[in-house]
Amino acid sequence: MGGLFAERLALLGSQNEFKIADDIAKAEAMGMKVVRLNLGEPDNDSAANINQCAIDNIRSGNSHYCDPQGVLEFRETVARFVSNTRKIDVSPEQVLVTSGGKPSIPFSFLTYVNPGDEVIYPSPGFPAYEVWANYAGAVLRPIHLKEEMNYRFDATTLAPMVNRKTKLLVINSPSNPTGGVLTKEDLADIAKIMEEQAHPDYRILSDEVYEEFVFDGNDHHSIASQPGMTQRTIILNCHSKTFAMTGWRIGYGVLPTREEAHAFRLWSINLYSCTPPFIQMAAKEALDNPINTEITHQMKARFQKQRDVIVPLINAVDGMRCNMPGGAFYTFINVAEVCERLGAVEFSASRPEVPQPSTLFQLFSLYRHGVATLDRSAFGEFGSEDQHYLRISLASGIDALKAGVSRLAEASVDVEGFQAFLKQPEYYR
Ligand code: PMP
Repeated sequence: MGGLFAERLALLGSQNEFKIADDIAKAEAMGMKVVRLNLGEPDNDSAANINQCAIDNIRSGNSHYCDPQGVLEFRETVARFVSNTRKIDVSPEQVLVTSGGKPSIPFSFLTYVNPGDEVIYPSPGFPAYEVWANYAGAVLRPIHLKEEMNYRFDATTLAPMVNRKTKLLVINSPSNPTGGVLTKEDLADIAKIMEEQAHPDYRILSDEVYEEFVFDGNDHHSIASQPGMTQRTIILNCHSKTFAMTGWRIGYGVLPTREEAHAFRLWSINLYSCTPPFIQMAAKEALDNPINTEITHQMKARFQKQRDVIVPLINAVDGMRCNMPGGAFYTFINVAEVCERLGAVEFSASRPEVPQPSTLFQLFSLYRHGVATLDRSAFGEFGSEDQHYLRISLASGIDALKAGVSRLAEASVDVEGFQAFLKQPEYYR
């Protein structure tokens, strides 16, 4: 007989991306004014025409249950958009509208993966990949993205990991949290390896939520555009980042076949019945109206400009190092030397109950220096013990970014403050 909670609850992970909100509230209650560089979302609001469209739809009564697969007009728009941008042929029957982009992650794991199947996913990566791989009982095969490779991975790294048990490969380009971008050649290599070595019915979950945020004039490439790969790929996408609509919860999956879209539909029916129709109509407006494309381009230009100012400032801090991210809106800072200097590595190494060094530094910089970031362990924990990184969001506004980096710099040399912080375990346990 178990306790109150079913055992599977433990598989859902700690979801640090959201837990940080509690830490920020606690720090602020203690009088700290916190600079937030942790947010995984654009700092502007959704556009006026999108807001108005949702309001009009509610007013006109478009507020009832609708097709669990998604409103046909919106699916048609999505199919057209994906077909045009990826140069592939997608029908509305292959599109499943979801509440935010995230549901396509569990839906993929629950639909394709049996216990014992192998799953390859990027680490560091969006935490839900590892959570759902675990939940599905998969054999976890994290592909560790390397700073030296600017967080790309290529055939040499992937090939030895793929075998006939490899059922699902997750890729995410541009990447959260690293800003790494896979090239068209990388995608061709990945496709070739999967075709030659993976399970005969393998699938690739291609998380493309940052597709609009590729910097330096480069284009976004989808693995679905590689020859034959439309039949292998689930494209996960959403309006959260592209149109600054994180709180609206609107996204979609594009499935290789109509049957697979129907399988995903079953999950959505049994979980939330349908995605609100007035939100789908506003999401259609976002894709249809060129004003919104222009707003997205301006956002991208602003994030790139902020990147160009902030990355050199970070690299000027003794003991910190980060690459120029090629996309998304994050920089991933190597803080190994800082963790060493402050004594975090030594302290954590001898105490199994204490979190990883970069988690200690992250909490210290929040509670004692007032800057909120996310640390490496928030992005997949399996095999991440010796990696010491912080993620900051470039979508935070230039003043906040400058203030935040200068606070991180202060924290990085505050050895005395850090040692005093270690004596207060209530902040890090
Ligand atoms: N994938 C990645 C890589 C993300 O960063 C996010 C959001 N942080 C999502 C999926 C989920 O997006 P949504 O909020 O629309 O569910």
